[in-house]
Amino acid sequence: MQRVYIGLGSNLARPTEQLRDALRSLATLPDTRLIAVSSFYASDSLLPGQPRYVNAVAAVDSSLEPLELLDALHGIENDQGRERNERWGPRTLDLDILLFGARVIDEPRLKVPHEQMHLRPFVLYPLAELAPGMQLADGRELDELLAACPFVGLERLSPV
Ligand code: ATP
Ligand code: MG
Ligand code: MG
Repeated sequence: MQRVYIGLGSNLARPTEQLRDALRSLATLPDTRLIAVSSFYASDSLLPGQPRYVNAVAAVDSSLEPLELLDALHGIENDQGRERNERWGPRTLDLDILLFGARVIDEPRLKVPHEQMHLRPFVLYPLAELAPGMQLADGRELDELLAACPFVGLERLSPV
């Protein structure tokens, strides 16, 4: 069983509802238990000219293998109408594996820790709600990543 952190994002249609639907789907994955969910955040998109995103981070405990979990997350994305067009294009749902327990994974289909997470306030701040002061599997300290990643373009949404 590994503690896995999953980043959720959506900027098309009804992002908040889609994140909620995705959380319900995560909770029903085989051999996986939903442990905690961060606040929802509104965030600026990485590319200009897109709607703002809603993002959150979820913690799950899973005994799936990393690639099995990745496939399951793609299944949830597809069920919610995800279309893959340009990289970082707008999407109804994105589910990324941020951290997978103590594992460091470098496979063509899966890099963990997620390669861009240290650059993304919409990942680091919600993650810090769930795992304050954590050390990543590769030895980096979350607090140091936060110190280098200002809280910019991000807005914590009130719970609804
Ligand atoms: P980014 O990964 O920069 O956030 P993205 O989420 O928009 O971009 P996707 O289109 O969702 O990118 O995924 C592209 C590919 O990234 C996937 O098919 C998957 O194999 C690969 N990938 C590599 N590492 C990860 C990871 N940690 N979590 C999810 N997908 C990953
Ligand atoms: Mg992504
Ligand atoms: Mg993705």
